[in-house]
Amino acid sequence: MRSLLVVEDEPAVARGLKDAFEFRGFTVTVAVDGDAALDTARDGRFDAIILDIMLPKRSGFEVMETLRAEGDTTPTIMLTARGEEEDRVRGLMAGADDYVLKPFSITELVARVQANLRRRDMDRAPPVELEFDNVAVDLNRQVVTRDGAPEDLPSLETELLKYLIRHQDRVVSRKELLETVWEYPSADGVETRTVDNYVVRLRQKVEPDPENPRVVLTVRGKGYRFGWERR
Ligand code: CA
Repeated sequence: MRSLLVVEDEPAVARGLKDAFEFRGFTVTVAVDGDAALDTARDGRFDAIILDIMLPKRSGFEVMETLRAEGDTTPTIMLTARGEEEDRVRGLMAGADDYVLKPFSITELVARVQANLRRRDMDRAPPVELEFDNVAVDLNRQVVTRDGAPEDLPSLETELLKYLIRHQDRVVSRKELLETVWEYPSADGVETRTVDNYVVRLRQKVEPDPENPRVVLTVRGKGYRFGWERR
């Protein structure tokens, strides 16, 4: 399920956006001022952000600049007033991916969000072949070659690795993995140890040294993160 952060101080507009995106299967969180937007964006996981410019406490521009300066790359669409050419330029300069003019058509806004998500997914598509020191992974053929000896990589382990690579700029929780890779409709109350067991198996296949993971990192209390960096 896609998660969306809506930053909008006008209750009627925020409500309308929340309803429209929830209807299309998104989970929607609303922040009503610039400070709340930053706090929420920092500790939540969002696939996309819709960001109004005129906000109490901190403008949408400041929110955008701050998030980008902190390394947050979440696709963000700014809501700008019609005719304010300068705002659109400033929004894009601040790091926004796209903008939609107010008053907007909800259909257009949904289409823009989805287009940005697709673009992001394509940018993130993991390369077909990966190399971790003495380990080569072919994600298409699902084959791992360790020191020249090929071995199958089972489908779940392959999907788990792909998902972590696709979301490598953040920590992925066990619950999220259960809901996406395992496709549980809702992972509330599901035994998250399942994920841990598969991570152990994945590490045994792809980590140059499974005892000292560098490909799939554990983030204590939060989940897992793809962490490969060449030394
Ligand atoms: Ca506003």
